[in-house]
Amino acid sequence: MNQYDAVVIGAGNGGLVAAIRLLQGGLKTLVVEKHNLPGGFATSFRRGRFEFEASLHELNDFGTEDNKGDVRVLFDELGVTNKIEWLQIPEAYRVIVKSENLDAVMPFGKQAFIDQMEKYVPGSKKSIQHFFELAEEIRTAQAYTNKAGGKVESSYMVKNFHNYVKTGSYSVNEVLDALKMPKKAKDILNAYWCYLGADCDNLSFTHYASMVLRYITKGAAMPKMRSHEISLALVERIRELGGDIWFNVAAEKILTDKNGVSGVVLADGREIKTKYVIANCAPHLVFGKMLDNVSLKDIKATNARKFAGRGFSMFLGLNKSCDELGITNHNYFLYDTMDTAKQYDLMKKIDTNYAQATVCLNRAYPECSPKGTTIMYFTTLYMSDDWGNVKPEDYFKVKDKVAKMMIERFEKDTGCNLRDHIEEISIATPMTYAHYCGHPEGVIYGYESQYWDGLNPRLLMMAQDHTIRGLRFAGGYSMRLSGYSSAYFSGDITGRQTVGDFKRGE
Ligand SMILES: Cc1cc2nc3c(=O)[nH]c(=O)nc-3n(C[C@H](O)[C@H](O)[C@H](O)COP(=O)(O)OP(=O)(O)OC[C@H]3O[C@@H](n4cnc5c(N)ncnc54)[C@H](O)[C@@H]3O)c2cc1C
Repeated sequence: MNQYDAVVIGAGNGGLVAAIRLLQGGLKTLVVEKHNLPGGFATSFRRGRFEFEASLHELNDFGTEDNKGDVRVLFDELGVTNKIEWLQIPEAYRVIVKSENLDAVMPFGKQAFIDQMEKYVPGSKKSIQHFFELAEEIRTAQAYTNKAGGKVESSYMVKNFHNYVKTGSYSVNEVLDALKMPKKAKDILNAYWCYLGADCDNLSFTHYASMVLRYITKGAAMPKMRSHEISLALVERIRELGGDIWFNVAAEKILTDKNGVSGVVLADGREIKTKYVIANCAPHLVFGKMLDNVSLKDIKATNARKFAGRGFSMFLGLNKSCDELGITNHNYFLYDTMDTAKQYDLMKKIDTNYAQATVCLNRAYPECSPKGTTIMYFTTLYMSDDWGNVKPEDYFKVKDKVAKMMIERFEKDTGCNLRDHIEEISIATPMTYAHYCGHPEGVIYGYESQYWDGLNPRLLMMAQDHTIRGLRFAGGYSMRLSGYSSAYFSGDITGRQTVGDFKRGE
């Protein structure tokens, strides 16, 4: 088999969904994946008696059967929802900033969230209600933009989504200030900022608001058998639809001629003829290594983008139950300050980065580990390539130092004792993410959301970003930015766009 209608490079979240859309559109499709497993970050691994989730803290916008989120609607259309056993995460989050006397546990559900905020911050109700109203309008406007493939009617936008247009170019903090939200309420509401990896002075309000809205109104979900269960379900569906998926096969080159994409060369030298490629990897790799004759415009546009956070995760298997350890919540955000711009700066350096987003899986799924044990995973981001400065001979020492910093922070902030109960410990650094998923500098969030390069500009510039006929991108670097739901949506969009290109012969 050396000829396909379309080739998907990479079996991450974006690539797998794109492949199903291509197959549903009738295209003969091949997925090539350099690793021996599907999913990219969406996977799991075993150490001793524990099966650790590799990345997913919580899946946004999935919802339940009677309160469906957009990801569930998408998965229904793809034919995968029922292949997976789902569970709901019990509460939204606990945010702790000891130095600022902040310790708040927030629930899912719009009214519950507003009421809880009012308890922590009397007088905040009106501004939080306004926040949700605005977020609803933003969400509807974004759904319209998606549907229109970025080609929106500006008069229609102004008429129907007036506040969306008005807030479109403002940061999270600018809009929350305009809503006259009390500082403490802002601090609590901004706890999710690290999920988008840009500070709230710079992060687009519309992007943040649409994410928070879906978490709070649809809740968050998780597959019982970790995110790997989703990846396997997507692979099964690809095969049911007659698609091919080859593991341990890296794509090395994308071939082009005067008409655009003409084929893909694999690392083993095989050449696949195809007119359509969806790349589930970084444009930096595609334009930097995989394509010859790249235009100056594509190089400049790619280099203008900023890498988002580089990942570091620690996975603990503990030999006591979470009740015995005193771990009361599923999802913790532990920061030094809720001045997110200051926190962002601290996260540039290994020595000053103490921030963490931490999960105790047993609080969502008590049976995830043997009775009397607990699974926890801790994640942080580095906002510069400081790990690139670590000398090879110091690598293990630095890894241990950061793990120690993370355990100390959690113990200090929550009063739990973890150190004496560690049975298994495993660590992933930016080098691990670069090695397994091929991401430059070990980036785990694609390109950072910027004013000029956030969700809105990327959605509106989809047509202009399509510079080579037959080549589109899916996943964390593309128009929906990073995160599980976003990567699935981008696979959906580019998959369907490619089917359209194919049918029109473009
Ligand atoms: C520790 C951690 C925690 C996270 N927590 C959350 C969370 O709670 N919620 C959330 O929404 N998001 C979370 N994320 C982010 C989320 O995992 C990513 O945004 C999303 O999975 C990215 O999907 P992707 O489609 O870009 O694929 P990736 O996961 O980047 O996969 C790309 C795939 O392409 C393959 N590939 C690359 N180059 C080639 C090539 N040349 N040939 C063949 N194959 C190739 C790679 O091997 C890989 O399998 C987390 C990420 C990490 C690492």
